Amino acid sequence: MSVPPSDGSPADAIAHQGERALPAELETGTLIDLLPAIVYVADTGVEGAWHYISSGAEAITGFTPEQWMGDIGLWARQVHPDDRAQVFGREENLVEPATPDEYRIRHRDGSTVWVRDEAVLLTDAHGRERWHGVMLDITDRKLAELELERRAAQQAAVARLGERALEGTDVARLMHDSLEDAARILGVEMGAVLAHGADDGELVLRAGLGLPRGAKRPEHAAYPFSELPLGITGQIEGRAGRWGLLWLAAPAEGTPAPADVDFVQALANILADAIQQRETEDRIRYQALHDPLTDLPNRVLFLDRLGHALTRPGAEVAVVLLDIDNFKLVNDSLGHSAGDELLRKIAPRLTDALRPGDTIARLGGDEFVVLLEHVADERAAARIAERIVTAFELPFELSAGEHFAKASLGIAIATGEEEPSALIRDADAAMYQAKARGRARFEVFDGAMRARTVKRLSVENDLRRALERDELRVVYQPIVSLKDGSIASVEALLRWSHPERGLIAPADFIPVAEESGLIEPIGRWVLNAACAQAAQWHALRPAAPALGIAVNLSVRQFTQRDLEATVAAALAASGIEPSSLCLEITESVLLDEPDTVSETIKGIARHGVRFALDDFGTGYSSLAYLTRLPIDGLKVDRSFVDELGSSARSTAITTAIVRMAQALSIEVVAEGVETQAQLDTVRDLGCELAQGFYFHRPLQASAITALLGAPTTRPKHRPAGASFAPGRVAQPRASVAASGAARRRRRR
Ligand code: C2E
Ligand code: CA
Ligand code: CA
Repeated sequence: MSVPPSDGSPADAIAHQGERALPAELETGTLIDLLPAIVYVADTGVEGAWHYISSGAEAITGFTPEQWMGDIGLWARQVHPDDRAQVFGREENLVEPATPDEYRIRHRDGSTVWVRDEAVLLTDAHGRERWHGVMLDITDRKLAELELERRAAQQAAVARLGERALEGTDVARLMHDSLEDAARILGVEMGAVLAHGADDGELVLRAGLGLPRGAKRPEHAAYPFSELPLGITGQIEGRAGRWGLLWLAAPAEGTPAPADVDFVQALANILADAIQQRETEDRIRYQALHDPLTDLPNRVLFLDRLGHALTRPGAEVAVVLLDIDNFKLVNDSLGHSAGDELLRKIAPRLTDALRPGDTIARLGGDEFVVLLEHVADERAAARIAERIVTAFELPFELSAGEHFAKASLGIAIATGEEEPSALIRDADAAMYQAKARGRARFEVFDGAMRARTVKRLSVENDLRRALERDELRVVYQPIVSLKDGSIASVEALLRWSHPERGLIAPADFIPVAEESGLIEPIGRWVLNAACAQAAQWHALRPAAPALGIAVNLSVRQFTQRDLEATVAAALAASGIEPSSLCLEITESVLLDEPDTVSETIKGIARHGVRFALDDFGTGYSSLAYLTRLPIDGLKVDRSFVDELGSSARSTAITTAIVRMAQALSIEVVAEGVETQAQLDTVRDLGCELAQGFYFHRPLQASAITALLGAPTTRPKHRPAGASFAPGRVAQPRASVAASGAARRRRRR
């Protein structure tokens, strides 16, 4: 401020009209003292003496002008410590003019006052430089400005965090950054993101800033909720209610402004969104890799882990495949929910039987698979398999009651070269072996099994083409009536005429057809061919009673939903009487899925089709089936017929079977009769029908045609002491087929 010199006379003021003149009152200071400002004259230097200070000083700083004038160091002491460098620096460099300085002065009462200090250096008559200045109290404006700056910074921080969350930044990183931003903007040094722990009231540190402990490994520090120091907290809301807190230490001065609380909450909201987003992604990823029923890893995750395990150097990996024995029985007899319940109970049982690092997955259905690492050899793997088998010894508590389940296991040990899927396939082959050897046990895949698998695969490939290339044939073996030697019916038996391997017996390819599912189209083909052939024989001899035709069905064909439709279609296409068709099934058919199978059997029987139990005596030989199901005939297995006479036990069993069948009005066929002695014995036992090489081997259809047309059906090698009256023309009749129909109606 440059002050023009004046002599102080009014005349002078008038004389210089238009010029600003300093009134005399100003000289006395009265007007100056009225200003809401501090007007001063002072020496230069941080501790320069005050020559004049107006009484505004007291209103603004709490110190009277006398106190200012009397204490050379007062000003330097009252300048806010944070502003001293700035203010004193200007003082030393004597920066002027028109560069007003804004800084804080501590009021006598301890509060902070913002001043705007503007001064000019004037030289007095003695050539001394002095500050002539004005200090204005700008506290209100300054605070409003700072407040605006702070809000802008907060908004920017919220926007930045939101953007980074959208970009998919890692949640831990977002937590840390939000803490840093908030602490900086709020001017505090401590902050934390805390999750509500398992205990109500317990808080678990997830990210920390300036915290005395837990900052390095946050997951290990748990704070009791009550110990959380006072501060600004933002609630982080999870999907299912509270997730946690964003906490910042309280600012040094006063209570936090509502806007600051809002700011922290805004950051917390973004964190909450990011956490929820992450949880959703995690859940989706989890669902894609886990079985919803048992919560175990699924095939995809298992294959991934197995793949990783196999590539680890020096990997000692084994795969155990596990299939629940007779699981379908549970589903069929107790319902699907009981089946699901059992699978859910099996999962933890398996987990408990294994080591913590082993991966156990559900492949689907009742198949589980285990990845074992660090198994040095077969014995180590076998020990674990043993443990799994043992784990099934106790019953499972289902809501329907206790249930005993067993499992068959196959083990494959990696040699280091195989693909994950190949290892599972090998374990699968071993598991099949375990099933075949009586279930509730384990087998280890070995070289012989590999050879079998390879062979089976090649057979399967060839068999796939056999149907298209018309390589399948049906031969027919007569079933002879022992009363008169006539051909009661014929059994259709499948042959495969392989282009390289020649004629293949069913035992060599039917198991493959069953495992691969090819049995369904093949079985359908046999059924149609046999029915068509039967119709042809009937057409040749329209006056004679229809010749019965027996067709074998395997277990797998009963899993087809449309078996009944297949049978009906074969009947319709050929036009034969349903009662001349007899379907031969083994007891194993009835074991696997008793309920659905008996429904199918009953459904087919309603068409008039008949059923015979094949290979009777080798399985469970349960009488229950015979009464519960529409069974019209029994075929006593060849092994019994073989031992008739030589084994008292076989003779007794066969006798019992025949008696029982007679009591139930069920026809009995003795299978595999090869000798006259066997024929005599089975006839003595009361058998009315027999089949075997003694009478006929399985024959081409044309040979059967010739037989039917021949005057007798006596055996080819006419034995001594002939069973049948020579020269007698036997009338073929459908035996197991035709005659049983009336009886069955009676029984039901
Ligand atoms: P299976 O149903 O018990 O058929 C009887 C088998 O005993 C036939 O063998 C037959 O040739 C043989 N056989 C008959 N009489 C004698 C005899 O006096 N001595 C001896 N040693 N054997 C005799 P094949 O044709 O090899 O059939 C074997 C099995 O293959 C059949 O046993 C049957 O279970 C199955 N099979 C045959 N054809 C079919 C078919 O079309 N479908 C299904 N699912 N299975 C079939
Ligand atoms: Ca048969
Ligand atoms: Ca048989």
